[in-house]
Order: sequence, then C-alpha cells, then structure tokens
Amino acid sequence: MENILQTKNKLRTPSPVERVGVRLVILGGGESGVGAAVLGLKKGFDVFLSDKGKIKDKYKDVLSNYGIKWEEEKHTEAFILNADEVVKSPGIPDKAELIKALQNKGIPVISEIEFAGRYTKAKKICITGSNGKTTTTLLIYHMLQKAGLNVGLAGNVGKSFAMQVAESTDEAGKKDFDYYVLELSSFQLDGMFEFKADISILLNITPDHLDRYNYEMQNYVDSKFRVIQNQTENDAFIFCIDDEIIAKELTNKIIKAKKFPFSIKQKVEQGAYLDENNQLVINTNNSNPLFMTIQELALQGKHNIYNSMAAGITGKLVEIRKETIRESLSDFHNIGHRLELVGNIHGIEFINDSKATNVNSTWYALESMTNPVILILGGVDKGNDYSMLNELIKEKVKAIICLGSDNKKIIKAFGGLVETILEAGSAQEAVAQSYKLGKKGDTVLLSPACASFDLFEDYEDRGTQFKQAVRGL
Ligand code: ADP
Repeated sequence: MENILQTKNKLRTPSPVERVGVRLVILGGGESGVGAAVLGLKKGFDVFLSDKGKIKDKYKDVLSNYGIKWEEEKHTEAFILNADEVVKSPGIPDKAELIKALQNKGIPVISEIEFAGRYTKAKKICITGSNGKTTTTLLIYHMLQKAGLNVGLAGNVGKSFAMQVAESTDEAGKKDFDYYVLELSSFQLDGMFEFKADISILLNITPDHLDRYNYEMQNYVDSKFRVIQNQTENDAFIFCIDDEIIAKELTNKIIKAKKFPFSIKQKVEQGAYLDENNQLVINTNNSNPLFMTIQELALQGKHNIYNSMAAGITGKLVEIRKETIRESLSDFHNIGHRLELVGNIHGIEFINDSKATNVNSTWYALESMTNPVILILGGVDKGNDYSMLNELIKEKVKAIICLGSDNKKIIKAFGGLVETILEAGSAQEAVAQSYKLGKKGDTVLLSPACASFDLFEDYEDRGTQFKQAVRGL
C-alpha cells in the first residue's frame, strides 16, 4: 500500500499563531470551495477564492458577508501562485496548467475534505465506490439519525463538510457532530493525504472517469483505495468481496484496519452475507448476528442488497440496536433518479434511473427488471464498453431508444441484439416512442449508461424531463 499511503505533499496543520498571514487559495467557488473559504477564514488564514467560471449569486453573497476576497471568470496567477496551500474543487483535473504550476512550485494542493477533516474530532464514516455512494451514504445517515446519534451528512451530498465544520466552531457555541457520514468521489480522495476515516466503505470499482486517470485503470483503483489510507487497527474497512477488482487489489495492499467484507456469493466470518435461506446475516463480532430477509429491505435489486449490507455492518460497528438497524434498512426512502418508479400508464411501468451514468449501474438496473424492457440509453459516452450488457439485453430488452446526440456506438453495439432501435432528440420524444412501442406488462426504463451533458444540464434535468414527459402522457 506504500504507493497510496505516501503523502504526495507533506502537509502540516499550522498552529493558530502561524496561520496569521498564511495564504490559503481556494480554486472553485461552488459548495465545497465556499465552505472551505469560510472555514479557512475562521481558522485565521488569509483567504482568496478564484473561479474560472461564474460564481452563483448565493455563493457570492456568502463570500461578501464574510468579507472574503474572490475573483470569477479568471485565475490570476499572481494571486494564486503565492499561496501557502491550495484547496482545489474536485471538478478541476490535476492536468490543468494551473495545478501543474502549483505542483511545480511545491505548493500543496488538497481537497476540501482534507482541509475540513483537520478541524473536527467527529468520527468519520466514508463511503466510496463507482456506484451506490449516494444511496449508501443516505442509508447510513438515516440509520444513525434513527438511532438518535448526533450525525452530520456531507461530501458529495448536501451542504459542504467544511461549511458544517465552520459552523460548528461558531462563537455561538454550536457543538460539532459526533459522526459525519461522508460520500467521497475519487476526485476528492485524490486530494486527501493525512485524513483518516474511522470507518471506510468501498462498494465496488468499475471503470468510470478514466479520462481523468490517463485511461489507466490502476490509477483509478489506487484513487478509490485512498479511502483506507492512514487507517489503523482501531479502524474498520468494509468492502465488497464479490467485486473482482477489489478482491484482487486486497492482495496488493497492506490493510491495517479491521476488515469487514460483504458478499452475496460466499459466507464471511465477520461482515455480511446471504445464508442458505437467502437471509441477510450481519455479524461483526462473532456473536449476536442480525438476520433479515431480503424482502424486508426497502431498496430492492441485487445492488441494493450490497448497499444495505454495507450500511448494516456500519450500524453494528457503531453499536446501534439490531431492531433499529432492521427498521432503518426497511423504511428508508431513496432520493430520486435511482430506479425511481414514476408511474404506471395503461399497464406500462415507467422507471427513472437517470443517475445510471455508467455501464455497470445500467447492468444492475436491467438485472433487477422482471418485465420485458424498453430501454432508453445514451448520452455522453465516457469510453464505454457496452459488451457487459449483451446478455441482459438479449434476455430482457425488446427495444432500445437512443437518447443522445451521437448514438452510433450504441447502434453498433446492440444493432444485432434487439429488433427495434430508435433515436430520440429529447426526453419527450423518447417517452412518446416508448409509449407507442409498449404493451401492457412492459417496463420503460431510462437507464442511460452515459453522462447527460449533450442534451441536458445534468442527470437530474434528464430525469426530471423524463418524469414530466411520462406525466404528460
Ligand atoms: P453514486 O453516488 O455512486 O453515483 P447512486 O447511489 O447515486 O451512486 O446510484 C447511481 C446509479 O447506480 C443508480 O442508477 C443506482 O441504481 C445504481 N447503483 C446503486 N448502488 C449500486 C451498486 N452497489 N452497484 C451498482 N450500481 C448501483
């Protein structure tokens, strides 16, 4: 594990006295950047924020209220290359010229999570993986809240971690949380060096965002494994042992944390598995295991058994009562755009899985389908290999509707496998076509396997337009 545990930029937290005049530059004026700026100010740094794009008014207001200096639609190097430390938005790639210039000057570039992590004593439960992060993060948050724990939610969801830490140190004396549940993307992990998770969760690793990793899968794998960096034998690492990439990587890394694998294929000693009666078993200390049927789970589909297992193990590790864990896993409501049932129109079911922005998540969506499927697929291809869908497409899909500005690759991949392939230029057109093709008992599934930026603002916009079109039928 040496390769990932080595600190690229050796950092240290300056003492309060040292911070006066220590220049903290924040790159990116979104949720995380503005949170980091406010926290930096409260900790006595000389803060400057720079965004190459436009900063939203609501964030400008926050910056002005705190008297933080900022610029937009440019990066003025003279104000940036004199930084002592830089907090970079996860959206800015390491390859950007400015980041290279900072690195050449030996200026540490870190993520907002690394920065905020220095200023809280809360226990940190960190979730990463290629798919299922938001679902599992919210599920764990729900469970800890239900158990009455003093828990915050941050990372890629909701209010930034840094802003919450900043607010917890207000003069008003608001107390910090005891726990944070943090959703971490690989881009955030790339900017983390000394941060330590008390409980780390690695759900799965499948090719995604490879453009940011020089098309080297190992770089992406290493990035995901950073979630365990700095963990000691007093910490826990929860992971999917059925995931071949994770299983293989375990043999290459030295893992100090206590290991809690989960599996739907094999029994594990400590962790979670399905027994011979298809019951979910969660066992973290060889006594008092929790048993639950998979029908009781609020979230259905194989992928959600995994997500529920990861959450259940976490619940046991923070010593939540079994009854509360069971209840949380069965009464959780997921947020939209993830296998979300939109409605049933004349016997045709419409499901919005717009958040499926890579092939693997579409695989799990199809895997969980029981009716003949009309699949709406396509968008911005991130170097997808569609072949893993072939079997499921042959078995379950009667028609494909391509919803992207360039559909050639999808048509080539599936042309021989389904009878009907149509193209649509809008969500409305795709819904109208699918409704025409559909028969009672069919399911229309929007699960695009691609990003959405060609025809939509983002995956939420795509899902919302889809839902509106369905409701308009
Ligand atoms: P993330 O935050 O990692 O993008 P989400 O919870 O938002 O994950 O889910 C993204 C997509 O992946 C959805 O289509 C969802 O149905 C699917 N998904 C959720 N959990 C998993 C999993 N464990 N494995 C594969 N796909 C999953």
